[in-house]
Amino acid sequence: VMRDLERLRNMPAETLDNVRIQLHTNTGLLADATPGLERGAEGVGLYRSEIPFMVHDSFPTEQEQYRIYVNVLKAYSPLPVSMRTLDIGGDKQLPYFEINESNPYLGWRGIRFTLDNTQLLVTQIRAMLRAHAECGNLKLLVPMISRVDEIIAVREILDKASEALKRDGIEIPRPQVGMMIEVPSAMLLLPKLAQHIDFVSVGSNDLTQYLLAVDRNNPRVSNLFDNMHPAMLVALEQILTTCKSLGLPVSLCGEMASDPVAVLMLIAIGYDTLSLSAYNIPKIKLLIRSVRRADLMPLLEKARDCTDESQIRALFEPVLVKLG
Ligand code: PEP
Ligand code: MG
Repeated sequence: VMRDLERLRNMPAETLDNVRIQLHTNTGLLADATPGLERGAEGVGLYRSEIPFMVHDSFPTEQEQYRIYVNVLKAYSPLPVSMRTLDIGGDKQLPYFEINESNPYLGWRGIRFTLDNTQLLVTQIRAMLRAHAECGNLKLLVPMISRVDEIIAVREILDKASEALKRDGIEIPRPQVGMMIEVPSAMLLLPKLAQHIDFVSVGSNDLTQYLLAVDRNNPRVSNLFDNMHPAMLVALEQILTTCKSLGLPVSLCGEMASDPVAVLMLIAIGYDTLSLSAYNIPKIKLLIRSVRRADLMPLLEKARDCTDESQIRALFEPVLVKLG
C-alpha cells in the first residue's frame, strides 16, 4: 500500500486529455501534514484555524498561535498554505466562549464574529504574519464574507498589523489575501469584491446550505442537502466564469471535492484546483487520471437542463460505474 501511495504521490492529477488539476488539502492539525505530503498534496487549500482554538481551554495567545502556525507553514514550505481566520459560530463552538443564538448559522459567525472582536483578529493576523515572515508561504483566507466592507476592514487590519510588526523590526512580505465564497451575496458581489482580493475559495458546504436554505447538519432535511442541486450548478458556473473574466484564481474546498460524481462535474465546469481531506486525495487523483474532460462536456451540457439533483447525478454516475 505504501508503495502504491508513493508511486501515485509523484504522478500529476491530470486527465487523459491533459487537463491538469491541482489537489490541495484541507487541514487544521499539524498531525495532518504527514498524510497530506505523503499523498502528494500540492499545498493547503484550507487550514481551519478554529481547530487549534477548539483544543485549547482559552483563547490562545499570539505567541502560542505563532508557534502553531509556523510549524504548519514550515511543514508544507515552499508549498502555499491558505490559513483561514477564525471561523466559529454556526456549528463550531469554542468550549470557553459560548454563543447562544436562535439562528446561529445566520448570526455571529466567521468574519462577523472576529470583526466585532477586533483584538482577537489582530492577534491572530499578527501571529500568522510573524509565521509568514519566517516561511513566506502564507495565503490569508477570510471566511463568511457577505459584504464588501468586511474585506476592506480585514485589509486595513492586515496593513496596520504589518506596519506595527515592521516598527518592531520584523519585515513581512505581503501575503496574498483571499475570501471564501460561502454566502450567495459574496458570489453576486464578486466583481465589486475582486479589487480587494487576490484569490477566491468556494466553500461548497456553506454555499449549498445558504443557497438552498437547508441546514447542513439537520438530519430532517438532509435529503434536501445536495451539492449537485441544479441551483448549485448555476452558482458554480457563474463563480468560475466571473473569476476567469476578472483574472482571479479560484479553488473549491468543501466536501464536494471528495465526492467522485461531483468532481466529474467540477472538472467539466472548469475548476482546476480542489482542496480536500488528505485521505481522499489518492481516490480523487486516480479518478481524474482515468477520465477525459472532453467526454464530460456533453454531460455538463445535459446537466444544465436538469431540474433535479438526482437527474444530474444520474448523468455523471455511469462514468464511475464504467471505471469500476
Ligand atoms: C465550506 O463551507 O464549504 C467550508 C469548506 O468551510 P467549513 O466546512 O469549515 O464551514
Ligand atoms: Mg464554511
